[in-house]
Amino acid sequence: MKIICVGRNYTEHAKELNNEVPSEPVLFMKPKNALVVPDKPIYYPEFTDDLHYECELVVRICKNGRFVEERSAKKYYNEMTVGIDFTARDVQQQLKQKGLPWEIAKAFDASAPVGNFRPITADTNMKNLDFELKLNGTTVQQGNTKDMIFNINRIIAYASRYFTLNIGDLIFTGTPAGVGPVNVYDRLEGYLQGEKLLDVTIQ
Ligand code: MG
Repeated sequence: MKIICVGRNYTEHAKELNNEVPSEPVLFMKPKNALVVPDKPIYYPEFTDDLHYECELVVRICKNGRFVEERSAKKYYNEMTVGIDFTARDVQQQLKQKGLPWEIAKAFDASAPVGNFRPITADTNMKNLDFELKLNGTTVQQGNTKDMIFNINRIIAYASRYFTLNIGDLIFTGTPAGVGPVNVYDRLEGYLQGEKLLDVTIQ
């Protein structure tokens, strides 16, 4: 499986990092070893002094596909949760300044914990989902999918032009404003539509 991530998909987050608002989705990937399933710890990586959380809505692909059309994209995912796109911000800033790829700042081992998945049903409005991240009990990020620059169907259509989607792949759909650093012993709790699905402690 692979993890396809979208960068800069919320205007306020793009602005907080002084990035341009993109005209096409900005994609990057994380490999299988980035994934952390619920109830597993996260260890602070030794190569960064500025590990940031980015809380994101995550969907799971349920059908193989290539060149998926936007109007049929919703058949290709059937479960959702929240996840953290952990980012070594100091490393990323150095790479960005040099115009180099982001991989070591984004795709490292255990950089993508996910919460427990919930089914997407006919009643789920993917364009109006609230999600939230608490850091040590205090809300630090609050998002709603209506504020996405590129909605999930558009992301699927765009990504599948370049990468075949396979059953079990995950899509991290971008983070709203409010990203920030974590420290050892911090606890991150992620909520989707008011339900706590993710609970991660940094070790
Ligand atoms: Mg992100």
